[in-house]
Amino acid sequence: MSEGEGIDIQAPYDPGNIFARILRGEIPGDRVHEDDDFIAFRDIAPQAPHHIVLIPRGEPPTSPAGIDASWEPLGGRMLRVAAAIARAQGLERSGYRLVLNCGPDAGQTVPHLHLHILGGAPLGPLA
Ligand code: 5GP
Repeated sequence: MSEGEGIDIQAPYDPGNIFARILRGEIPGDRVHEDDDFIAFRDIAPQAPHHIVLIPRGEPPTSPAGIDASWEPLGGRMLRVAAAIARAQGLERSGYRLVLNCGPDAGQTVPHLHLHILGGAPLGPLA
């Protein structure tokens, strides 16, 4: 089996990554949520009628593989915030999917931990 294309999750955090630049306001993001720990914005290449990306502020792990014990509280809060955003977008009744990509075979392209919120239509099989 060949490896997929994507980021090296072992690499150190790159402050020049596209999500870091959105966080700093250097490039625009269509924000739907902001709080002390997270921002969420619409994905530039939506894979569903609603496709929102939720990211921690600061320099989080580059991927889910980097979540250690110190990140556990934020990881739990990230799920709670994602559910609140989905509710605010009117997706709770119809349902939605939360996706965390990790590394090349998952197609992860941005090395800043992020959670995809997808909904607004039947999403089909997982993979
Ligand atoms: P990944 O594939 O790493 O899990 O997800 C990265 C996501 O970021 C992709 O769905 C991609 O469309 C989105 N993305 C990449 N560049 C930008 C950008 O400049 N603005 C926004 N809003 N989304 C972006």
